Amino acid sequence: MAAIVTSNLVKKYGSFEALKNISLSIGNGDLYCLLGPNGAGKSTLIRILTGLMKPTSGNVRVSGMDLSSEVREIRQKVGLVSERVILYDRLTPVENLLFFASMLGVGRKAALKRIYDLLEKVDMLDWKNKPVRIFSTGMKQRVNFIRALLHDPEILFLDEPTLGLDPHSTRTIRNMVRELNESGITIILTTHVMGEAENIAKSVGIMHRGELISSGKLEDIQGSLKKDRVTVTVKDSSVFSFEKIEGYQSETRVDGVVKIDFQPGWTIENILPAVLRMKLEVIDIEQKKPSLEDVFVKLTGESS
Ligand code: ADP
Repeated sequence: MAAIVTSNLVKKYGSFEALKNISLSIGNGDLYCLLGPNGAGKSTLIRILTGLMKPTSGNVRVSGMDLSSEVREIRQKVGLVSERVILYDRLTPVENLLFFASMLGVGRKAALKRIYDLLEKVDMLDWKNKPVRIFSTGMKQRVNFIRALLHDPEILFLDEPTLGLDPHSTRTIRNMVRELNESGITIILTTHVMGEAENIAKSVGIMHRGELISSGKLEDIQGSLKKDRVTVTVKDSSVFSFEKIEGYQSETRVDGVVKIDFQPGWTIENILPAVLRMKLEVIDIEQKKPSLEDVFVKLTGESS
């Protein structure tokens, strides 16, 4: 059974169509990254799938249940970590989490055990009796993450969970996401960072201006371009403009070297003669599989 199925989902804000006919299926046990630039409609879709907002039209089934008639039951089965952290500043993480557990109908004893286990997992046990007010954004987000897990959800939604966080918190949350998925929880995560999805996703959905323009297994989507891309690293030569080289796509300068990315499909054999003719000092040549960014550019004609 699929964890999520939507058909012809539409959401309008006034006359503006934020979601246009989204038909999507996410399998049980998947780790699905919903990708797309800011404004693509990711949060709107997540808010609908978690029962926080009603669609204008279309159907949604979550764990086999119909969202329009069984929203209460669905809320019991899903957890949401959103970018906005809502915690009481004067309370400790344990007090905060006990409060949320009671709202979710989880008994105090079971809740306490779960809270301590999870605080340890996110590396926050030493902070259990300190007020949340003194925590960094990343520490608050780690507590917020636990909040979404208190009722042992079958499906966990994370809306830009690592946006603006420090590296330690980002790593902790990413590892927890993997671990939870390995334990059988279906994960749906939004991000506008393509590299984040490449690191973690089993499947991806790419959104653009309210449409789902691609959805499927990560390797199938990357493979859809079927073209590797070549990057040539040369010694920086400020007098030279690299755009003149045929097949050029972009360049990045770091520490006296320039990495020149060529358009997907250009091979080393096509590129190298031109580079050598220009007497550039070649340091490295790499050939890589297409990235999700390449797929996005190909599908939309825009960069994310
Ligand atoms: P994303 O999460 O991909 O950044 P959102 O779902 O937040 O995208 O927004 C999609 C579009 O809908 C954007 O153009 C945004 O401005 C618009 N939008 C989002 N929420 C509202 C709202 N409450 N009222 C009106 N427009 C909204």
